[in-house]
Amino acid sequence: MSKILIIEDETAIADLEKDYLELSGFDVTIENRGDKGLKTAMNEDFDLIILDLMLPGLDGFEVCRRIREEKNVPVLMVSAKKDDIDKIRGLGLGADDYITKPFSPSELVARVKAHLARYERLVGVGQKTNDLIEIRGLKIDKTARRVWVDNEEKNFTTKEFDLLTFLAENPNHVFSKDELFRRIWNMESVGDIATVTVHIKKIREKIEYNTSKPQYIETIWGVGYRFKICQQAAAVRFAPRRAGIDLNRRI
Ligand code: CA
Repeated sequence: MSKILIIEDETAIADLEKDYLELSGFDVTIENRGDKGLKTAMNEDFDLIILDLMLPGLDGFEVCRRIREEKNVPVLMVSAKKDDIDKIRGLGLGADDYITKPFSPSELVARVKAHLARYERLVGVGQKTNDLIEIRGLKIDKTARRVWVDNEEKNFTTKEFDLLTFLAENPNHVFSKDELFRRIWNMESVGDIATVTVHIKKIREKIEYNTSKPQYIETIWGVGYRFKICQQAAAVRFAPRRAGIDLNRRI
């Protein structure tokens, strides 16, 4: 099911758009402020974003610009004024389409469907195979942002996924919590490295057989973490971990 984010401060319009899109089988999220909408757009994966121009918190121009810096998702901009459309074009913000208020909900649904079909065609042609990382029983699909442990899919939040992928792509390299915080959260660390610890804990709960003896992400005391690749871990991997055997005793 395609996921759509509506960033619109007029709740009546947002609700109407949502109703029509849901009737057409879409999964819809609404944000009523520009700043909150941007945050949601960055932290979750959507198939299309419907973005109003005049918004509290952060206007649609800025929201569009910042989404474009990081995401390829199609953005459909909505405005009450024809003049704004010229401005959007002039600024080259990378919006994929524009629609002026008032518009009929069926027109919106038709535009959304057309964009998704076009986008899926482009993605289908451009990336025939997904970008995979496979280490022992762990499989990370970077393209689809999905993770499997021994063929069982696990759900990861955006940051958990980014952190795990970053570590797995740099195996045997020790990273400090500060460094991980800066790389994954894209900001200067101001003593909030506890965030990293919390995320590592959550990742371990999903990928490790025994979180107190991690086989993938190793704690280097006083320094940070590293993604481990070694024979011992491989041996444990091939043991019948689902049979209830205490693997710790063998190590
Ligand atoms: Ca508005």
